[in-house]
Amino acid sequence: MTVFKKKTYYLPGDLIGVIEEFTPSSNVYQENYNIRSKQLGKININYETRAVTIIPKLRVTEVPKVGDEVIGIVDQSQSGLVMVRIKEINGNPVKSEFVGMILLREQQTDRNQRRIIIKLGDYVRAKVVSSLNNVIHLSIKGDHYGVLHTVCSYCGGQVQLSGRRIFCTQCKMLDERKIADDFGKFKNT
Ligand SMILES: [Zn+2]
Repeated sequence: MTVFKKKTYYLPGDLIGVIEEFTPSSNVYQENYNIRSKQLGKININYETRAVTIIPKLRVTEVPKVGDEVIGIVDQSQSGLVMVRIKEINGNPVKSEFVGMILLREQQTDRNQRRIIIKLGDYVRAKVVSSLNNVIHLSIKGDHYGVLHTVCSYCGGQVQLSGRRIFCTQCKMLDERKIADDFGKFKNT
């Protein structure tokens, strides 16, 4: 029996192994005694069941579409216009640098609500609401959207929640943000 050296990424049609080695699972196919990849992706082997799967890799040409959930870093923030460099689309990391736009006055749901604040360097989760003329408009309306991770804008220290505000553990400054419901649980990878 030939044992093939496994690589991490496979192209469509690439030989993954032979049928004695693995049980074909998602995104792979059998051709005679060989198992090949159906698409570009990363290999996953379950060593108990011998099931082999290809986890599709998001194509770099993937463009954020209306309804997609994105995570990104605030690149620019001035005069109520926030630019977000998109790092993830629907949970998949993207290499290409898409920039989405948040118009803060459009995020206000009622007039008595406190001011919507997002600052430079914040990690935000947002929804794509329009991509007309290739301009990606993002919305942070709703509890699940808004800032996921930030640091103190005065000293760069670690912050923690204090009610609906954030509190710097170093310089003790209180600051405001439009935070997401899972603020602070986000791990920057
Ligand atoms: Zn601070």
